Amino acid sequence: MNTEQQIHTLRKELRQHNYNYYVLDQPKISDYDFDMKLKELQELEEKHPEFYDPNSPTLRVGGQVTKNFATVVHEHRMYSLSNSYSKEELEDWEVRIKKLVEGSVEYTCELKYDGASISLTYENGELVRAVTRGDGIQGDDVTHNVKTIRSVPLKLKGDFPPKFDIRGEIVLPYEGFAKMNAERVENGEEPYANPRNTASGSLKLQDSAEVSKRPLDCLLYSIVGENLPFSTQFEGLQKARDWGFKVPQEAKLATSTDAVMKYLEYWDVHRHDLPYETDGVVIKVNNLNQQDELGYTAKSPRWAMAYKFKAEQASTKLEKITYQVGRTGAITPVANLAPVQLAGTIVKRASLHNADQIEKLDVREGDEVFVEKGGEIIPKIVAVDFTKRDPDSEPTNYIAECPECGTELVRKEGEAQHYCPNYNHCAPQIIGRIQHFISRKAMDIEGLGGETVALLVRENLIENYADLYELKKEQILPLERMAEKSAENLINGIQQSKEVPFERVLFALGIRYVGETVAKKLAKNYKTIEAIEAASQEDLVSVDEIGEKIAESVVDFFAVEENRAIVNRLKTNGLQLAISEEELAGQTEKLNGNTFVISGVFEKVSRSDLKKMIEANGGKVTGSISAKTNYLVAGENMGPSKLAKAEKLGTHIISEDEFLAMVE
Ligand code: AMP
Ligand code: ZN
Repeated sequence: MNTEQQIHTLRKELRQHNYNYYVLDQPKISDYDFDMKLKELQELEEKHPEFYDPNSPTLRVGGQVTKNFATVVHEHRMYSLSNSYSKEELEDWEVRIKKLVEGSVEYTCELKYDGASISLTYENGELVRAVTRGDGIQGDDVTHNVKTIRSVPLKLKGDFPPKFDIRGEIVLPYEGFAKMNAERVENGEEPYANPRNTASGSLKLQDSAEVSKRPLDCLLYSIVGENLPFSTQFEGLQKARDWGFKVPQEAKLATSTDAVMKYLEYWDVHRHDLPYETDGVVIKVNNLNQQDELGYTAKSPRWAMAYKFKAEQASTKLEKITYQVGRTGAITPVANLAPVQLAGTIVKRASLHNADQIEKLDVREGDEVFVEKGGEIIPKIVAVDFTKRDPDSEPTNYIAECPECGTELVRKEGEAQHYCPNYNHCAPQIIGRIQHFISRKAMDIEGLGGETVALLVRENLIENYADLYELKKEQILPLERMAEKSAENLINGIQQSKEVPFERVLFALGIRYVGETVAKKLAKNYKTIEAIEAASQEDLVSVDEIGEKIAESVVDFFAVEENRAIVNRLKTNGLQLAISEEELAGQTEKLNGNTFVISGVFEKVSRSDLKKMIEANGGKVTGSISAKTNYLVAGENMGPSKLAKAEKLGTHIISEDEFLAMVE
């Protein structure tokens, strides 16, 4: 096989694996093997730019930056849908239709996915453009970003027409949304409000590499174009699946009005079991000739109708507005409600987001309010029932001072949230920060839990994480439910955490935006806390993957004398505030400039340790053998093709022992 064929074969294989994983949800190889194949392709493509393909699976990771999204006029207009909210309205629609078309009418019933609509253009089986709906006439070209969504096929299979558009919805499934938010909270960022807005916001990010990291999905529902090889909507969906698109299996063909109603009833309840948000059902006349006969109104097709699920809503009294202070000092207003039944649970609290939201809704204590449950984690207030408002009620005055420490709140230009700036002496901020400090991925302190941290702070025994290391058993014994044994465990756990490596200590400090990965980068680059403290913003930005926002936050943190003093005390107490001797010693340049491939199974060290050793000694590890490979570390059972290739290219083939001798 020559290189070109090899590249084509790899691309084809990877495309199929992508399809199995993201469209069918039935992976056939391990993630590791997938990554290895991808790496192999990447390397080949790097060496052979003449075989560049804008739709290669390697480009899914993004990297293109779009400063301004070009406006594109849709070749076929993207219409809205007429809405109906009751079965009666739906029945009226059917009566109207039956007057306008000949013969019996069948319907395709689909779910109405709640995300951002998108139109994809394919030419000769390749994705050439992805455009947002915009105003229906023209939208924004977001092709680079959409290409990173793994379930969007970049090349089609089967007998597709030479040119067509396909429409669908870009959604962010609940699970991925929750994960993204957990990471944001961990990094001290505000969580996103709901999946739909986050999905549509993602499409407009400038850096497609960022989009690539978001777990977006694309669900397709309609093909438009000339001379299409099907005559009904339902067949169209099946064709789209055959060509490689992700079309949810929930779509059903309904041959009667009764069947349509059954579909509505079923999904009104079961939509809560779906992995992503839906806000209704779309009923479409199945036969495309009948669709043509029916045509369009100014805004929407006559042949389709959306039936909106009733958002689960309840009305109740807002008893009191309270304000929460988060770990980062962000203030969140909370509505405390008279308990009310909503979507199967009893709701007592709802989020009011921020001051603007309160003003927009004009919501006041004592009001009767409507509460809704959507994709958000906690319910929200959607409106006030003004008919029930007490004529003497006064507009809500947003608090000016922190409810916990009395410090005057600040609100930065362009931010919606108020903050308490009292970083080091505001109880919830202190508690939140110490809880983060002891958490599993940070210092992982055994014998100490979040509740105890809160208790220790409330009892004035600690005020920052450095205080932990000076705690005495006698001080904690008097605490409620603190037995001799648990007090001992606690103190021991704290002492043991002094062994935790620098990168995790750095993460544990809880500097805004310094998550696990950033902490690793900083530790590796600067090696000591002093070096990080001394680094200027420009200097920090020059480190791979450290952006302005992170750099600013690091500089801000160390600009505060109190923070420096606390960090100093950590040092005095013996925490690891520099890369350890061992790690430093392990860092050699013995293998500088050499590229290794690891293959097979080893006796003395694991593959991942081998990899670490190579990197610690200045070498580079790649997934496949090329002319650039210097050494193949060969274990048991390695693939014969790799061996043959190494022999052919004259790569040094070494055993585990020979490798270990190299880094001795
Ligand atoms: P609306 O925005 O309420 O006018 O509803 C129209 C939008 O519903 C379309 O632009 C699509 O983005 C979206 N939609 C979601 N699911 C479907 C579906 N199965 N068929 C058609 N449109 C859908
Ligand atoms: Zn405060």
